[in-house]
Amino acid sequence: MLRPKRATPTHPDGRQMKITFGQMRAMGLRGVLVYCHCGHHVALDSARWPDEVRLSDIEPRFVCQGCGSRGADVRPDFDRGNPRLAITGS
Ligand SMILES: [Zn+2]
Repeated sequence: MLRPKRATPTHPDGRQMKITFGQMRAMGLRGVLVYCHCGHHVALDSARWPDEVRLSDIEPRFVCQGCGSRGADVRPDFDRGNPRLAITGS
């Protein structure tokens, strides 16, 4: 049986590929959250990165101010997305 086609691309090993900033902005999201494994995180505006850059592309560039380690987890900031899209129903 065929599995339904996923909207998000995946790596050959099954890991989910991260979307580009262009795709993220198309979803109405304007910010990203950058997480370190130590618990530090920072919210950034996505305007500084061009549409063709993937969120995963910038992860190795971050150096944590708390623990000094390089490499972070970058995710779309859903909380700062369009609140009219985030809250549905009546
Ligand atoms: Zn850290």
